[in-house]
Amino acid sequence: MSATLTFLGAAGTVTGSQHLLDDGERRLLMDCGLFQGLKELRERNWAPPRVDPTTLQAVLLSHAHIDHSGYLPRLVRGGYRGPVFCTRGTADLLRVMLPDAAHLQEEEAEFNNRHHTSKHDPALPLFTTDDADRALAQVEAVRFDETFTPAPGVEARFINSGHILGAGFVQCRIGGRLVVFSGDLGRYGVPIMRDPDPVPAADVLLGVVVDRLHPPDDHADKLAEAATRAADTSGWLLIPAFAVGRSQEILYDLRELEQARRIPSLPVYLDSPMAIQATAIYAAHPEEHDRDLKQVETDGKRPFAPRRLSLCKSVEDSKRLNDTAGPGIIIAGSGMATGGRILHHLRRLLPAEATTVLFVGYQAAGTRGRLLREGARTVKMFGEVVSVRARIMVSDAYSAHADRGEILRWLRGFTRPPAMTYIVHGEPGAAAALREAITGELHWRAAVAEDGQRVTL
Ligand SMILES: [Zn+2]
Repeated sequence: MSATLTFLGAAGTVTGSQHLLDDGERRLLMDCGLFQGLKELRERNWAPPRVDPTTLQAVLLSHAHIDHSGYLPRLVRGGYRGPVFCTRGTADLLRVMLPDAAHLQEEEAEFNNRHHTSKHDPALPLFTTDDADRALAQVEAVRFDETFTPAPGVEARFINSGHILGAGFVQCRIGGRLVVFSGDLGRYGVPIMRDPDPVPAADVLLGVVVDRLHPPDDHADKLAEAATRAADTSGWLLIPAFAVGRSQEILYDLRELEQARRIPSLPVYLDSPMAIQATAIYAAHPEEHDRDLKQVETDGKRPFAPRRLSLCKSVEDSKRLNDTAGPGIIIAGSGMATGGRILHHLRRLLPAEATTVLFVGYQAAGTRGRLLREGARTVKMFGEVVSVRARIMVSDAYSAHADRGEILRWLRGFTRPPAMTYIVHGEPGAAAALREAITGELHWRAAVAEDGQRVTL
């Protein structure tokens, strides 16, 4: 039987990345992601697994983001006992992110039970901390560019994709065919992460889509403006930020801005246990740092530490900020203000004119972050209506995802066009636009993957 590839998730949508490689004898899963976002998507996480977990020989993870890794505990709960291959950076991040994801599931179930808001009685978590721990015990970390054997007769390799720490393209040779899965493609010329490595060849390529174009402005301009305003008003600057990737970029840029004397040195509070752990992991992997970051380290500076940085590990550390006067900067999750410690700060500080809020990431429809960035004068949180007198600012310059130009730049690095390119991880419009660009500009064969579709390699 010739090898096949089945798109089990992230086809026609962005999250839930899972792709099955199968040549009749060997079955491998590339990525094991959770569906995230709207309720109808999240409900898909509860459906029976689309592939029997006991029939899989190996799982290969492109990176640690939950929409690429968060289904693992569920797969293990379903009977998967094989290895989970990923890079060392990804393995370190998973040790923080999977238990956190499990904890959120447990909290949600507990909330539903207390308030009887679930149709299930009792409501159960999608997976537990125990499931996450068991999944972590199956992780096998490998180095970038090291060839390994995930199953007999299959050769695989991770190649730096420049997206977040540990992120790699998954290259897999199975049944004489070379398959490359891009996972999420990172960017060129941004601080911290190296540029994506070129991949010379593939028979079949699974590619990614992001539909927004990055603005050409200096990505730290808005951050400088927001910090300066906080200093001028003696108020707080609140930055809702994802713990992994974005928080480190903000810390790095704040230190750079201070050093260049573009902003005064303000107290900076990293108010997120997960971001604190992720920052330590970023710092502990110098092999993945780009040239700028290495230079900072050579100069004897801690790259992610603005001069007056404090880490708020405990809830008490966080609460102490309630009694602390500005000016100052608080970085906390969640990035879309849907939960986490940032909510407490927003509730307290949104009504004050001296407050500045800077959004530095994508804000999905239906989130508080989206409402605020669209100019809502009130928002609901903790059952209260909170008025918004703070200045709301938005920076669209931060992104860990290549835009269309950067995707095409990476594709041009192939010395031999893949026989076929499948586009996954995109909203339908963006996927179709990328397909057009690939066929029109590069003259490659490309198709938009359909959910559940199986193709022969
Ligand atoms: Zn990602």
